[in-house]
Amino acid sequence: MSSRDPASNQLQNWYEENKNERKYVTNNSGIQLVQKASSLTVGKLGPIVLSDYNLTQQLGHFNRERIPERVVHAKGAGAFGYFQVTHDISHLTVSTVFESVGKKTPIAVRFSQVAGNLGSADTVRDPRGFALKFYTEEGVWDLVGNNTPIFFIRDPILFPMFVHTQKRNPVTNIRDWDMFWDFISLRPETLHQVMFLFSDRGIPDGHRHQHGYGSHTFSLIGKNRTLTWVKFIYKTDQGIKNLDPEKAEILAGKDPDYALRDLYNAIEEGKKTGKYPSWTFYIQTMTPEQAKAQDFNPFDITKVWPHVKFPLIPVGKIILNKNPSNYFADVEQIGFNPSNLTPGIGASPDRLLQGRLHAYQDAHIYRLGVNFEQLPVNNSLAEIANFQRDGFDVIKNQNGAPNYHPNSFGGPEPLPNAKYWTPPPESVTGNVDYFDLGDDDNYTQPGEFYRKVLNDQAKERLVQNLAGKIKLAQRRILDRTVEEFTKVDENLGQRIMKAIKLEKGREAVVEL
Ligand code: NDP
Repeated sequence: MSSRDPASNQLQNWYEENKNERKYVTNNSGIQLVQKASSLTVGKLGPIVLSDYNLTQQLGHFNRERIPERVVHAKGAGAFGYFQVTHDISHLTVSTVFESVGKKTPIAVRFSQVAGNLGSADTVRDPRGFALKFYTEEGVWDLVGNNTPIFFIRDPILFPMFVHTQKRNPVTNIRDWDMFWDFISLRPETLHQVMFLFSDRGIPDGHRHQHGYGSHTFSLIGKNRTLTWVKFIYKTDQGIKNLDPEKAEILAGKDPDYALRDLYNAIEEGKKTGKYPSWTFYIQTMTPEQAKAQDFNPFDITKVWPHVKFPLIPVGKIILNKNPSNYFADVEQIGFNPSNLTPGIGASPDRLLQGRLHAYQDAHIYRLGVNFEQLPVNNSLAEIANFQRDGFDVIKNQNGAPNYHPNSFGGPEPLPNAKYWTPPPESVTGNVDYFDLGDDDNYTQPGEFYRKVLNDQAKERLVQNLAGKIKLAQRRILDRTVEEFTKVDENLGQRIMKAIKLEKGREAVVEL
């Protein structure tokens, strides 16, 4: 029995499991090779001959090992498990995932940091992606969320702009605090999530100790086309645990893969103890009539639905009990797509969600190819029957079935009773125009967060964390940023100003 942790001991474990099975090396076509340690040369000291196909195939494949990294959420960790229903909500949705108490649906999960590149450290201050893939009998449902119930912006046209400011300066290739705070202070809808980010929960202690949120407003479609607006929330059963910023910085150097390692080991440990990482899954619901009566836009992703009005309703458990068999195949190639909505679950007018419905599919086609859904990790349990064919790397090309519709040869047809669960008809009228929602109450909820949710110590840590980074921006941007936080709460603005040691009319004291 090894005393090493399961992640460090992975190779030895593989050896123990496979040592009785003799393997002979082959090329990519399965042809056995006689030599793996020397190239084919003319004499002992002569040049390599071009007919050494084993060498050229290996070098050619090696050159193509990396695919484009995700433009955001590049560094991540994945796992598999299941979702199980504990409380009945079948009166709200016809989704088979929620059809009865006890129902289990296999899932894949990917956790990620957002801004850093593929090899970056896990313990940075950054939102975390928390994406779920449900392999249902009716196709794949992807719930592509984060560890926060809100997001920085509410209109997708700002997404590339926002992301540019979080990533590297195009000249220096270094992250740039002028860019960061310039955008934040010019678009104050970002303040709510910026405050979450600079609070204690901005650096979770690994992936297991954080909550997850579908973040957007979605819809549940019930029998006879009833519609209920819904938020999905998954709260950690391990308890919230965050890293102290100094410890996180040390870990970023000592063990940049801290969160990956923690998740892998926790799942391997679970195989011995039966105690796997888990989350309790809740919903908040709102009727269409309630949505019309709110004094805030329930489809604005920069805002939460207050718990007191929309309490959490328990629904089920997420259990992670299996590590990836291979990181590249199972995690690098997994593609989540918010437009994968199975019957009984729908979208909403949330503008950012509307943008994501398009953007994710497009990103995967660029990164993984047009047939990415055919990769095993993305494969649907339900049979694919349609008229799409061919393209790079096709695996299942639907054999001899007709590739056009309508046809007289028994090709797939739309479900005759689909109306049973499609969203109710929606009447929308209005002028086609640019409606900028930039000023849609950006300060009330962040103010409540500061005044109501944080205690004195948590407030002080928020102030210090914010001040430490705001002071790295140039003076005019710094001033504007502090002004914005003053609009959130006067006391907050004053404390940040004090922490920066800012005196009117003088340059900030910059301590790099
Ligand atoms: P409540 O006062 O009922 O609950 C506070 C919420 O804040 C809890 O969900 C809590 O999570 C969460 N929380 C605590 N510390 C942090 C942190 N550092 N970063 C992010 N979330 C944190 O909430 P209300 O509905 O009355 O809303 C008040 C304010 O709370 C909102 O304006 C919003 O800023 C914040 N909030 C609200 C959420 C919601 O969905 N309503 C969700 C998260 C935050 P826990 O469950 O672990 O206690």
